[in-house]
Amino acid sequence: MGMSERDPSPSDSVRRDVLERAARTMLIITTITTVLLVSVVGWRVATANSEPARAAVQPATPSPLPSPSPTHDPSRLLVGIVAGHSGSDSGAVCPDGLTEASINLTVAQMVIDDLRRDGVDAILLQEFDPRLRGLKADALVSVHADSCNIPGATGFKVARVTDSAIPQAEDSLVQCIIQAYSDETGLPLHPASVTDDMTQYHAFYEVAPTTPGAIIETGFMLDDRNLLGKHPQTVARGIERGIQCFLKGASGE
Ligand SMILES: [Zn+2]
Repeated sequence: MGMSERDPSPSDSVRRDVLERAARTMLIITTITTVLLVSVVGWRVATANSEPARAAVQPATPSPLPSPSPTHDPSRLLVGIVAGHSGSDSGAVCPDGLTEASINLTVAQMVIDDLRRDGVDAILLQEFDPRLRGLKADALVSVHADSCNIPGATGFKVARVTDSAIPQAEDSLVQCIIQAYSDETGLPLHPASVTDDMTQYHAFYEVAPTTPGAIIETGFMLDDRNLLGKHPQTVARGIERGIQCFLKGASGE
């Protein structure tokens, strides 16, 4: 008992030793914690900095909308022609490999050439062309052809969107094309097979509501193959004359 009171030094030194060790341990823990915190914060800051950098690049990727026609003279009429399925898929395919997309593109390109020859600014559009969005034109016509697997089916059909904002103009465009196409090609109208694919055609909802639109199925790839494959110029002329009939009627109003 008395020993501890008389000679406190051994227990004092032990306590000092313990305290020193504790202090050293605390210092080590504090150092490790600080190093960890600094690295975590540093990593966070680095990540936070790189994230907006990547985000800032992102919006630039969808290219700005190209103007409908770089050469479009506002005093001239502007017509958009969609080559059905182009840039997207083949469309209908015949057993021998003839594709609807190739027929459509040949015809659409000829319609463009005919329109330009007649002084109309015309632009050739792909099926899902970004230039369709908000397109303000005097007419938009999409060129398609019917399947290759219905023996005995012949004829063409023309349609406009079901819930038209400009029904008079669009009916006039449809009627003009039906008349001219029938006159030019001699094909019968095949109205019974007008489908939702035509009356709810996607491009009708993409262009400006003031742009009159129509879609034509130029014929059946099996029974009307001779016309579609061998006489694309006749097919194109029918469409172009129909568009001209509409444009003249519209400008005369
Ligand atoms: Zn098609």
